[in-house]
Amino acid sequence: MTHTRSLPKLVLATRNTNKADELKYLLATASVEILDLSFFPNAPLVDEGTSSLKENAALKAISAHHHTGYWALGDDTGLCVHALGGDPGVRSARFAGQLTDAEANRNLILQLLKDTSDRTARFVTILALARPQGLNYFQGQLNGHIAMSSMSTQGFGYESIFIPDGFNVSLAQITREMKNKISHRSQAASDLISLISKS
Ligand code: IMP
Repeated sequence: MTHTRSLPKLVLATRNTNKADELKYLLATASVEILDLSFFPNAPLVDEGTSSLKENAALKAISAHHHTGYWALGDDTGLCVHALGGDPGVRSARFAGQLTDAEANRNLILQLLKDTSDRTARFVTILALARPQGLNYFQGQLNGHIAMSSMSTQGFGYESIFIPDGFNVSLAQITREMKNKISHRSQAASDLISLISKS
């Protein structure tokens, strides 16, 4: 008689549906059963008040791991603009104020760079995987520059003002398949898949 081993459950520790959808797509080949936080409506929200993407990603993962008892994955992503000394970075979600308002965040960056010729920037994603055996981190980065104005009404977060290196359109205008090939999040996710396949 053959026994099939059930896959470990992995909870995506985010209420951001754009991120959750991307992670589900990117992790489709991983040997895990993916659950999102909609299965756990009472999971506590983590306050991202820390000084690093790594710490935020870990807090999200640990909180979801403790609440659910399953493996959990935290994602913290920042847009780092060279001429702004790496800002908004860890403050990307609330750059223009306390409440998340993606349009206000984009407009603030465009305003701050109004007279600046160096518009280089990068997206950085840190994924933290929390399991009973401890924490693992994975990092991805996408280099590019900030557009002169918003180039699309599509996309989420900062995508409509970020032009990846090698493209002349914003991240919001390239296909989802292409974004998922080149993105900060996809690099981190592919290292995560390698680790899971070796565990
Ligand atoms: P957080 O990782 O949820 O704290 O997100 C930080 C900020 O970056 C939020 O404003 C997100 O909308 C934005 N963001 C996160 N990931 C991406 C991405 O892949 N593209 C564009 N914006 C993003």
